[in-house]
Amino acid sequence: MKLVVLLGDGMADLPLAQLQGKTPLQAAKKPNMDLLAKRGRSGLAQTVPEGFPPGSDVANLSVMGYSPSRHYSGRAPLEAAAMGVVLAEGDIAFRCNFVTIVDGIMQDYSAGHITTEEGRELIEALQPLMPQRRLYAGVSYRNLLVLQAGAKAICTPPHDISDQPVADHLPRGPDAELLIRLMDAARPVLAGHPVNEKRIAAGKRPANAIWLWGQGPAPAMPSFAEKYGLLGAMISAVDLLKGIGKYAGLEVIDVAGATGNIDTNYEGKVQAALQALKRLDFVYLHVEAPDEMGHEGNTELKVKAIELFDEQVVGPMVEGLDKSGEDWRVLLLPDHATPIAIKTHSRDPVPFTIAGTGVSPDGVERFDELAAQQGGYGLVEATKLVGLLRE
Ligand SMILES: [Zn+2]
Repeated sequence: MKLVVLLGDGMADLPLAQLQGKTPLQAAKKPNMDLLAKRGRSGLAQTVPEGFPPGSDVANLSVMGYSPSRHYSGRAPLEAAAMGVVLAEGDIAFRCNFVTIVDGIMQDYSAGHITTEEGRELIEALQPLMPQRRLYAGVSYRNLLVLQAGAKAICTPPHDISDQPVADHLPRGPDAELLIRLMDAARPVLAGHPVNEKRIAAGKRPANAIWLWGQGPAPAMPSFAEKYGLLGAMISAVDLLKGIGKYAGLEVIDVAGATGNIDTNYEGKVQAALQALKRLDFVYLHVEAPDEMGHEGNTELKVKAIELFDEQVVGPMVEGLDKSGEDWRVLLLPDHATPIAIKTHSRDPVPFTIAGTGVSPDGVERFDELAAQQGGYGLVEATKLVGLLRE
């Protein structure tokens, strides 16, 4: 039996006046997701347990069956794994965002989705400021800093404070002074850097500050093979998911042209997944775009991102699985909601559907937040989902 998780990051949302009271999932033309719901069994999943911040790190760990209370140690250590940065005893990894701050206000948590190449140049310029020079360039605005301090500092994700004064959200608690000193030291270096001068001249947002958050030591996680006896692969553009895949002992497959945004290489991801399933039992296919559109507060593009996920990922994957002649099952879901109204994540339960060999329909005919409430599975804890997929 081939098992596949198809995850559209942040797809869930709330009813919007702009969509005549519908959610983006309800408004989107998504015949393939609706057909899966019609063929399968639906429900609601609690992906973010009580007491944890609603984010892709906690939510995807839960969906993969790793209880966050036992295995979550922060976002950045997971991304470190994807970047090939090994964390030794005492190492604390930090996510280091490039951001745009204007008049003390967080204007953009992604510095206008700065390119990876531009980011790399800025990281080089900032390296001399960092203790032990352990600053690593990542994808677009997402970078990594490794320190031997700061584990207990209270830091805030920049995408949670869009359009708010940064002074109210600077790091607090133990070692906060060190983190603020590094963030302050970066400002003058970034302010005069040619990369930013060029961006400003082109009417783009400059990366005029760094923002440190999501820190922690290396997590301890049993492999997927140990947990489920399954050999599998992770397909995603973002380091967070690649890192979770690495710690779970999955094969991390890089797809050229996968950007982590709405212009990603959907077809390449599907082809890589179908190829991998010829020799593996399990594939986790993650698409980031709907979440990015949610953070931007762009309803039209969030609906578009959902439609592209349906047309270019869900449809072709099910077609490919049918053609393979193998028994198969698909788990379709978002990891969390990224409501347009708040431009960040919420911990509301998310809709999910399991369809395929041996799964009998429960009467639900559409895939969305409302229809899933009538689903045969009811409300389940997300760490149970892989178990239900295999049942
Ligand atoms: Zn997410």
